[in-house]
Amino acid sequence: MSHVILQGSSDEEQTPNMETTIETIKFKLDDDQFAGEALKEIPSRSELRKKGLRAAMPFWLAAIPCIFIPLLHYLLVPVLLAIGFLQGRSFWKGKALYKSGKVTCPRCKKGLEFNDLPFESPLKVLCSSCGYQLRLYELTP
Ligand SMILES: [Zn+2]
Repeated sequence: MSHVILQGSSDEEQTPNMETTIETIKFKLDDDQFAGEALKEIPSRSELRKKGLRAAMPFWLAAIPCIFIPLLHYLLVPVLLAIGFLQGRSFWKGKALYKSGKVTCPRCKKGLEFNDLPFESPLKVLCSSCGYQLRLYELTP
């Protein structure tokens, strides 16, 4: 089963990322040893905007009744607006996620699984069995 939805069009003008794409990524370790694989979800811009708004909205809505609190509104309203913005910002920055990851610990050979890890290079995964920290690099074909 292939999860690749992304269609490369490198010689054309760059099209905006309108759809969430999912790629299968293979990982290697520091010593180039194959470690395992995961799905990499690259959210679309519209999806990110929605997720960010969903994260920010409760704080922004909470700010509305605070407008009517005498004196305290000078403090509460800007603080709640700022918190909402910070909550949404991590989504608006548009990080990819690794999902359904399956790798093997090189030290104790235990199979490790992870899900919904934000993109990081190298991706650090802690072995739940021996405590070894795996550093995973995307294997580019
Ligand atoms: Zn281990």
